[in-house]
Amino acid sequence: MVVENLARVEEKICAACERAGRKREEVTLIAVSKTKPVSMIEELLPGGTRDFGENKVQELCGKYEQLPKDIRWHLIGHLQRNKVKYVVDKVCLIHSVDSLRLAETISAEGLKKGIAVPVLIEVNIAGEESKFGVKPEEAEGLIREIAKLPSIAVKGLMTIAPYVENAEDNRVHFANLKKLCVDIKNKNIDNVSMNILSMGMTGDYEVAIEEGATMIRVGTGIFGKRDYTI
Ligand SMILES: *Cc1c(COP(=O)(O)O)cnc(C)c1O
Repeated sequence: MVVENLARVEEKICAACERAGRKREEVTLIAVSKTKPVSMIEELLPGGTRDFGENKVQELCGKYEQLPKDIRWHLIGHLQRNKVKYVVDKVCLIHSVDSLRLAETISAEGLKKGIAVPVLIEVNIAGEESKFGVKPEEAEGLIREIAKLPSIAVKGLMTIAPYVENAEDNRVHFANLKKLCVDIKNKNIDNVSMNILSMGMTGDYEVAIEEGATMIRVGTGIFGKRDYTI
């Protein structure tokens, strides 16, 4: 089932890239495997999928131990500072940095392990009360502070767009995040590259691609609905 689902998602990604005049290689699909068993991830490995997303540290670490080491793990969920030490050397990218204190902890743990940890800044682009992420107008200031830390590297921006019935309603938010990313990139801040734009989920990834996403995070569309009751 997951292989067929992935093929359907892949077709839609290609169509969206075509509409936007973009190359397929410009967009990385992250298969969001949170709450799903290792066996479902394994079904996707023969086809070449290697980017997987998890939102909980414990779950990511558990799957990391059980699966091949060439998998690129993306931490996409809110990260508590006391859990940073478990993940800095297991993930290829942390998508959810939204405070200097968290960045300082990540840098300190990165320093201990001798690595510069790649991160994205999570932006609350639609200004929703319930969401993590910095306000758009605070992003540049935060990035300038993080850029001074020794063992963390800002690579771009991430957002979780509002839950909407009609994906078109999120187009403006994706366009705004893209614009913010370009604005900050143009400041040429040392130690900062703004080449990654992580936006778009099952309900709206096609619109996100049309608006410039370089990473999309798709869970339900590949693995089916999540059951949080078990
Ligand atoms: C769960 C999750 C996703 C995937 O959501 P779907 O709607 O199932 O595609 C993407 N991004 C983040 C941050 C998530 O927590």
